[in-house]
Amino acid sequence: MEKRKLEGQVAIITGSSSGIGAGCAKEMARAGAAVIVNYPVPQAQAMAEQVAADIIAEGNKAVAYKCDVSKEDEVIAMFKFAEDQFGRVDILVNNAGLQKDAKFTEMTLDQWNFVIGVNLTGQFLCAREAIRIFMKKGVDGVSKAAGKIICMSSVHEVIPWAGHANYAASKGGVMLMMKTIAQEYAPHRIRINSIAPGAIATPINKDAWDTAEHLQQLLKLIPEKRIGQVEDVAKAAVFLASDDADYINGTTLFVDGGMTLYPGFEDNG
Ligand code: NAD
Repeated sequence: MEKRKLEGQVAIITGSSSGIGAGCAKEMARAGAAVIVNYPVPQAQAMAEQVAADIIAEGNKAVAYKCDVSKEDEVIAMFKFAEDQFGRVDILVNNAGLQKDAKFTEMTLDQWNFVIGVNLTGQFLCAREAIRIFMKKGVDGVSKAAGKIICMSSVHEVIPWAGHANYAASKGGVMLMMKTIAQEYAPHRIRINSIAPGAIATPINKDAWDTAEHLQQLLKLIPEKRIGQVEDVAKAAVFLASDDADYINGTTLFVDGGMTLYPGFEDNG
């Protein structure tokens, strides 16, 4: 039988009790990785354990682990747990993210700090820990790279978004953090890329697709005229983590059905 693309590797997927993270966890496990299904709060524990149970039921390896990615000590503990549990870490999917929307003049400092703290500082803390481990391990033949990081960005790393300044700033920040650390660590055979999803049907944006009317409005922004599914993103994540993407470093892969193609110009503007 052909070796699976992520066989023998260990992946930490942050925020993977739901949505895109859960999809990435399942798809990476199918590709052979042992997976840490991270969740932030006790209320998400049952969902994370269900994701892990689904993975184990398919004959693969997973364990749920609680960690708030915006807390330095918890992030350090999560990476130590992953090494203790599975002996190594090869892949980080920096997926945890949230929104706290407000008109800019009404946005509180708490709303700003909360979103930046999880979406940007959380990605910094996890990437730093991952790179420390990748540097210690080096290339050992399990993969062509010493380690791979996939940052879950958004089309809003390039599309401005009124009413969401904190979120757009966090994703714009992720873009240049990703490119900077890719430049810094490519010589060590560490690959760091982003995925920028467009509109994917998950809990984060439910009010944009939960009624026929909302969906109709949303589809005007999507040239492919369908909302994305978590599998669209998860399959791209497996590709970027695999040796098939060995020469891809420091880039953002847009998985958006064409949302970044200025759909307003579809009928000649
Ligand atoms: P989601 O709400 O289902 O997933 C977000 C996950 O992050 C949840 O599981 C949540 O528990 C977790 N999380 C929140 N705070 C955390 C913390 N402090 N520590 C650890 N985990 C935490 O929504 P989703 O759509 O699956 O979002 C996943 C990622 O994709 C986010 O970064 C989001 O910005 C990005 N994204 C989503 C879309 C979309 O259309 N759904 C589009 C662009 C980008």
